[in-house]
Amino acid sequence: MNEHALSDRLACVGEQIPDQARIADIGSDHAYLPVALMLQNKITYAVAGEVVQGPYDSASKQVRKNGLTEKIVVRLADGLDAVQPEDKIDTVVVAGMGGTLIRSILEEGSRKNRLAGVKRLILQPNVGERTLREWLVDHNFTIIHEVLLEENDKNYEIIVAETGKATYTPQQLFFGPFLLKEKNQVFYKKWQHELKQRQRVVKELEKAKEPPAEKMNELKEQIEWIKEVLA
Ligand code: SAM
Repeated sequence: MNEHALSDRLACVGEQIPDQARIADIGSDHAYLPVALMLQNKITYAVAGEVVQGPYDSASKQVRKNGLTEKIVVRLADGLDAVQPEDKIDTVVVAGMGGTLIRSILEEGSRKNRLAGVKRLILQPNVGERTLREWLVDHNFTIIHEVLLEENDKNYEIIVAETGKATYTPQQLFFGPFLLKEKNQVFYKKWQHELKQRQRVVKELEKAKEPPAEKMNELKEQIEWIKEVLA
């Protein structure tokens, strides 16, 4: 992967960005996404935020190499601290991290009012999608689209949200409201695997002298949900 040829995952994240957007890519590593989108003239301005020095240096180098220092600002910062009001960011991307980390980045950013003016969030959690959906609901975001794709034998969920109130059932929060409606091939593959994994864990827990009741009930409920959607 490079700035000219994004992975399918990052390309799909890019497709969720509105044309001519001003984006903040938080956790930008090599700044592949903002550089690629700028070279395609899809976005007009970007902040590439990185909290770790090595990836920050790689991102800065990538932006310089492509002659984009006027249009892409690389900042060494924790989460949404990278965003300043004068950036006039309307779209925030947080991709390639766990859902809990993405949630804490959003939570901290929201607390510091760094999401003011932001119309769209594009989130790609590697795990922990449900916690992220719960955060969105609690913070007046509504999910407008979701994608589930597979690349190199791994599956990735992309959640696109905009401001607005929404309520979801526990199952919609668990599977993703759009993914549940669509049920594509990757969805079946993912949840068949997740079902087996949960059944294995329940079997193991049952061997314990005192199986943790709460955990067992949670897993059993999820097993029922998964069986229902796969039926
Ligand atoms: N977003 C890119 C992608 O999807 O391919 C890079 C993903 S990489 C696995 C995660 C990046 O997020 C790392 O470079 C890491 O340093 C950065 N990161 C982790 N926590 C962060 C935070 N709180 N603020 C900014 N960047 C963070």
